[in-house]
Amino acid sequence: MSSYGSNATPCSSSGRYATVADAAAQQSTEAVMEMLAQGYRVDGQDSLGNTALHWIAFFRLDTLISPVLEKRARPDIVNYSGESPVHFAAMSSHVAGLDAMTRANRALLSLHDKDGYTPFIVAAKQDNSPVMEWMYLQGVSTEEQDDDGRTALHWACYNGNKKTVQWLLSRSASIVHRDRDGMTAIHWAAMKGHELIADMLMEVGAVKLLDVPDRNGITPIEFAMRKKNRYLVASFHKSQVLNYLLGRPYVFRNSFANLFMCFIAFNIMVFAFIVAPGIAARNPEAVMHWSVLMGLSLLLWVQCCFSDPGCLRPPTIHPQHHLLGNDPEKTFDVEQPIESQMAHCDSVLQQLTLTCNGKDSEVIKLELQQNMYNYQRQVLREARKQLERRCGMGDPRSPAKGELQPLIAPGYKEHIAPQQAQLDRATETLHERERSAGENLGRARVEQLLAEGCGEYLSLVEKGEFKHVCIVCRARRAMRSHHCKEIGRCVDKMDHHCPWIDNCVGLGNQRSFYMFVLVLFTTILYFYYTVFLYVFDTVFPEISHGSFSELLQAMTSGSLAPELQPLVVLITAVFDLVWVYFVGLLVLRHTAYMLVNVTTYEVLMRPPHMQRRFPKARGKFFFFQGFGLMSALANCARYWMLDGSADVAMFFGRPQESFVAAEQVAKHKWEGGPDAVNLPEEP
Ligand SMILES: [Zn+2]
Repeated sequence: MSSYGSNATPCSSSGRYATVADAAAQQSTEAVMEMLAQGYRVDGQDSLGNTALHWIAFFRLDTLISPVLEKRARPDIVNYSGESPVHFAAMSSHVAGLDAMTRANRALLSLHDKDGYTPFIVAAKQDNSPVMEWMYLQGVSTEEQDDDGRTALHWACYNGNKKTVQWLLSRSASIVHRDRDGMTAIHWAAMKGHELIADMLMEVGAVKLLDVPDRNGITPIEFAMRKKNRYLVASFHKSQVLNYLLGRPYVFRNSFANLFMCFIAFNIMVFAFIVAPGIAARNPEAVMHWSVLMGLSLLLWVQCCFSDPGCLRPPTIHPQHHLLGNDPEKTFDVEQPIESQMAHCDSVLQQLTLTCNGKDSEVIKLELQQNMYNYQRQVLREARKQLERRCGMGDPRSPAKGELQPLIAPGYKEHIAPQQAQLDRATETLHERERSAGENLGRARVEQLLAEGCGEYLSLVEKGEFKHVCIVCRARRAMRSHHCKEIGRCVDKMDHHCPWIDNCVGLGNQRSFYMFVLVLFTTILYFYYTVFLYVFDTVFPEISHGSFSELLQAMTSGSLAPELQPLVVLITAVFDLVWVYFVGLLVLRHTAYMLVNVTTYEVLMRPPHMQRRFPKARGKFFFFQGFGLMSALANCARYWMLDGSADVAMFFGRPQESFVAAEQVAKHKWEGGPDAVNLPEEP
């Protein structure tokens, strides 16, 4: 038992709680304060080994944090599961607690519990990326590993935590890292059948890992096959082929864009080979009109596909070419997982030192250096475990051997004492190195962000106000912006992610999108006009010449004679009715939204600023409240001039508090300016 393990209990006047920890577990602030004043041990542990600080962190008891820490409560004491109060704070997203407990020593953020989970990994398992971003800015490594060599990315993929996976990829968490079983993140995603996560991983290069076997010789594709996930297997093979041909694992991210291409191609074929020859003689202008309309639709479609929808910040998710190399299989040895990955990390570090210079690569170098310490820590933990196993240690009820805890305890056999001491010395030295590496890295990361003008963002994250920021784009949320999961970026005045154009629609491309649906609708309607002409110019005369019976004959004989052509046109016309309905609805909807200045996202999700503008939102068409002709015309003009100056007044009725102004006025605390103006919360 360690020095702080006992529950020292001076006589209690109330006698309700045996330890301060018990009082904190009941969230009784007064009792905790009273007991501290009476001289109870601040680090007294309850029946599960938790201290008061554990419960204060878990229940986010902000008022107790400072008094307890002033009494010198230790944040490195672990309970019987080996979890420290820092682990608890990470579980409950208690940023104030994390900050207060680790301010003196940020290395506490990397404590391992009994299974080797660090607070960072715990947060990843719970899909709690905002707390991870806070830890990241304090210099915590994204590559921290548990006892099986699994990183936060492994766990986020295993649990299907899409948000966390996206955030981790935006911080360049390694997709090539392999656990003790030789499995990468995409192995886990494939095994658990998380298709969207597999797509995200493939986009940054994991498509090259699909044929890489784990320790048991199983590749991600085989995992998908074993799980009988046919969609995933097909998607893996498709991605491999496309990556070979195009250098990226997809043509369009989703299949709707492909469907749209099929629709267009089918219509063009029917028109070019059947309708146009039939009407060209009498109505050449109709052929020309439709061709121009279709050409324009296609042009606008391409424009929408590749236009910038109004992204607020540069992309943060990048392919990991520098880690993948030419043959990712070669960098890993199943017999020596840690050692081989250390060698790989070292070679990448050397390569980077040779080829790159500048601030960005400085951060990457520091991160790679920190990775080396991570691997070294793994080696030491493994050695320690082996030693414990050899002497039959490892009683599950004894307090876990947290690394900061002295390991020499009664029951250890004498002959391993020297080895033990050696390990302790090595661990201590490594700790010191890790601590300073983390501090340097945290500083470098913050400096890099400050250089990019993200001071305000940093200040909000520091205060734990995650609802006001996007942690993937590292930006303050603007009122009408929204983070698009598909493209992984925040889009100004985000309307929706359109699967047909495989792109977001926002302030940047709202005009071309509107033109696209309008022209497409006209094109489809005009197609019906040409069909009408075709019937009069070709079909009727043929029927009057008696070839109607031939037509029937052709239909029953099953041959694809020219007589079948009217039937193909008829089928196309019926099929296109779906498109008339769909695209017509889109035109109507977007026209209505334009007239009242709302977006699809705002109508569907009703974020707080919408609720303020339409307090009594009832019915499907609630956004028509207070509709007026003059305001509709003004909204229309602003839509086409991309003018958002009236938005704040419209949604909040307070023109003086402009969002743009708030962003410019607010200065970060690192720059010594006043605090940011509080904005309404975004979901
Ligand atoms: Zn974003």
